[in-house]
Amino acid sequence: MSCGKPIFGDEGVIQIINSSPALGKVGAFPRRCSNDQDLIASPNVEFIVHHYGECVMYPDAEDGYSFRSDRAATLQQWCAWTYQVQEKPWMSRGDLMRFLRFWFDNRSENLSE
Ligand SMILES: [Zn+2]
Repeated sequence: MSCGKPIFGDEGVIQIINSSPALGKVGAFPRRCSNDQDLIASPNVEFIVHHYGECVMYPDAEDGYSFRSDRAATLQQWCAWTYQVQEKPWMSRGDLMRFLRFWFDNRSENLSE
């Protein structure tokens, strides 16, 4: 549903969604944290970007967890979001690490440099 293009400034919203059909509608509010032992094969939580007026939002995403991309315009702000969502029961340790990494993946930056 997301176009997969990077997102910067005030272009849209970052969404944290349920990605497991077994737990509920994909694209809606996150239901349960991922099993960190099986994180690559079947995460329960995913992160996507939605550009205003461009890519199509999941039908149930309006009820989901999201924040405007201009509130995460710097790595410092992204770290603050990572810290904020660490208290959510639907974010496992592995989900948090993938969320942090999402910043770099979204911008095609190499995390190891
Ligand atoms: Zn888009």
